[in-house]
Amino acid sequence: MSSEKEAALAALPNDNPTIFDKIIKKEIPSTVVFEDEKVLAFRDINPQAPTHILIIPKVKDGLIGLSKAEERHVEILGYLLYVAKVIAKQEGLEDGYRVVINDGPSGCQSVYHIHVHLLGGRQMNWPPG
Ligand code: 5GP
Repeated sequence: MSSEKEAALAALPNDNPTIFDKIIKKEIPSTVVFEDEKVLAFRDINPQAPTHILIIPKVKDGLIGLSKAEERHVEILGYLLYVAKVIAKQEGLEDGYRVVINDGPSGCQSVYHIHVHLLGGRQMNWPPG
């Protein structure tokens, strides 16, 4: 079993602070590629493509995963996708890229703070694994 899948199956879906809270507070280092008052984007520690960036809201507001989305989250959800597009341009991904949100154990989510994966720099395959 892949380590990503093992991590996802071991992770408990709850609203406790995650590693991403420490990254937001700069208590642990990350390579930040974009930051404003609403979101932080940084390079994934275990990249699955030449470009692999995680985009997260700075305030979780119960949004531990997409399945927990409420109507009040519509603005931040849209903004996360918009920022993915901005960063894709910044990273020079003119030929295309993939945006992914894993949700829950079956979706291979391992960190319960919603995040958008931006993947690019290689040819993607379909269907995904
Ligand atoms: P998920 O599997 O929940 O969709 O994605 C979580 C992602 O967070 C994984 O791709 C994993 O590599 C990444 N990740 C986990 N811990 C850290 C960390 O401490 N720093 C960074 N930059 N990425 C992390």
